[in-house]
Amino acid sequence: MLAARFMDIGDLRLVQEDVPKPGPGEILIKVRASGVCGTDAHILKGESASTPPVILGHEYAGEVVEAGEGVTSFKVGDRVCVDPNIFCHSCYYCHSGKVHLCLNLTALGVDIDGGFAEYSVLPAAQAHLLPPNVSFAAGAFIEPVACCIRGLEQAQIRPGDEVAILGGGPIGLILLQLAAAAGGRVTVSEPVQSKWALAKELGAQRTVLPEQLAVDAFDVVIEAAGVKPAIEQSIKIARRGASVVWFGVSPQGMAAEIEPHEVYRKELRISGSFINPFTHSRAVKLVGSGAVRVEPLISHRYPLKDIHKALDVHSSGQASKVMIIFDD
Ligand SMILES: [Zn+2]
Ligand SMILES: [Zn+2]
Repeated sequence: MLAARFMDIGDLRLVQEDVPKPGPGEILIKVRASGVCGTDAHILKGESASTPPVILGHEYAGEVVEAGEGVTSFKVGDRVCVDPNIFCHSCYYCHSGKVHLCLNLTALGVDIDGGFAEYSVLPAAQAHLLPPNVSFAAGAFIEPVACCIRGLEQAQIRPGDEVAILGGGPIGLILLQLAAAAGGRVTVSEPVQSKWALAKELGAQRTVLPEQLAVDAFDVVIEAAGVKPAIEQSIKIARRGASVVWFGVSPQGMAAEIEPHEVYRKELRISGSFINPFTHSRAVKLVGSGAVRVEPLISHRYPLKDIHKALDVHSSGQASKVMIIFDD
C-alpha cells in the first residue's frame, strides 16, 4: 500500500509498504478520506511532538475491511471515523477523569501509524460508526469538530454573547457554527477576504479584518489562528469579565506579549483547549444532523501521491480544508 511516512524534520516520504494486519481488539480500515491539519505541518517543521518514523494523518474515515480477534463492535463493511487519541487509563490524569491530559497519551497519525495511507490498523475502541448520510470526507472532519466542541465547552458562551473568532480557516468556521448554535452573535476576523463569504453563509453576523476589531467589545474571544498577533489581540478586544480561549495551535517555543494588569483589571478567564475528551460521539451527531456543515469547508482535494503538494497548498494560507481523497 502507498503511505506517507514522517521520517525526520522536513522529511515526509511516500513509501510502498505491506498492508498491516489487525491484532486482537483491532480493526483494519481502508482509508477513504484523510484531512490535512495544521498539526501535520507543525510536526514536519519540528514544532510539534511526534514519534517518527510514523505515518501521519490523524483526521480520517474509512471502511472496515478486517476485524481482529475478539472485535464485536464492528464488522466488515462498516463505515467509520477515527478518534486518534489513545489514553493509558492508569496515570494520575486518567484516574482524575481528565483522560485527554494523560501523561502517556499516544495518537494515531502522530505517534503511531495513521491515515495518510491506503490502509490503517487501529484499536476498535478508537472508531465511531458514521451515519449513512455522512460522506467519508465529512467523516474525516469529525475529529476537528470534536476538538472544537471542547473549545466551546471552555468558552462557556451564553445566548446573546458577543463572540469574536480570530481566524476564518476551517477550524474558525467550525467554531463559528458551534458558537452560533450556542446563541452567540459571532464576528469572524480573517485577513484573507475571499474567506468572508463562507463565514457569512455559515452564520457569522460580521466578517472583519483583524485591525477592524474594537477593543473591550467581546464577551467571548476564541483565538483560532495560533499566531502571535491574534493571541495578543485576544486580550485587548475582550470585555471586562470575558472568557478568552486560545484554541489555535501555536508553534512550540512561540512567545507572546500580554499585559498581566489588563487580565487583572478586566478579570479575564483565559483557557486553553486540548484535543477532544468525550466529544467524539457528539461531533458525529452534529455533523450527521447538519447542525455543523463541514463539506463547504473543503477547498482542495488530492490523491495521496500528491501529499507534498497538498501540504504546500495547506501552508499557503489561501486554502480552507485540504483533503486527501482515496479511490474506491
Ligand atoms: Zn488535526
Ligand atoms: Zn493516562
